[in-house]
Amino acid sequence: MQALIYERELWRRQAACERLGVPTRIFFSEDLGEIAQAKNTCVNCPVIEECLEGAIHRREPWGVWGGQLFRNGHILATKRRRGRPSNVARPEDQLPVIPIPVRIQRELLSA
Ligand code: SF4
Repeated sequence: MQALIYERELWRRQAACERLGVPTRIFFSEDLGEIAQAKNTCVNCPVIEECLEGAIHRREPWGVWGGQLFRNGHILATKRRRGRPSNVARPEDQLPVIPIPVRIQRELLSA
């Protein structure tokens, strides 16, 4: 039990969102700009795979975890701005695409 707690703490200390003091709210925001900011924080996180695996196993209902956007336990490829879709593409609405590691993709396909 002690080792498990230590392992959890060690993992948390390496997290980019913890180390950089990034506001937690951006990881649970509806704003596309903040979601993009959260995903960009994850890109450089040394524990991105562990974070993503944990979120998949917990079926996270909400938020950005391991560089991916979760809703109702599933990874969303994209997200639209609220309201009527614009006739003109808005580059600022494009969320960063962070590839899912092949090992985790295989696990998702075999589940
Ligand atoms: S992958 Fe993203 S959400 Fe997960 S610990 Fe790293 S920065 Fe935080």
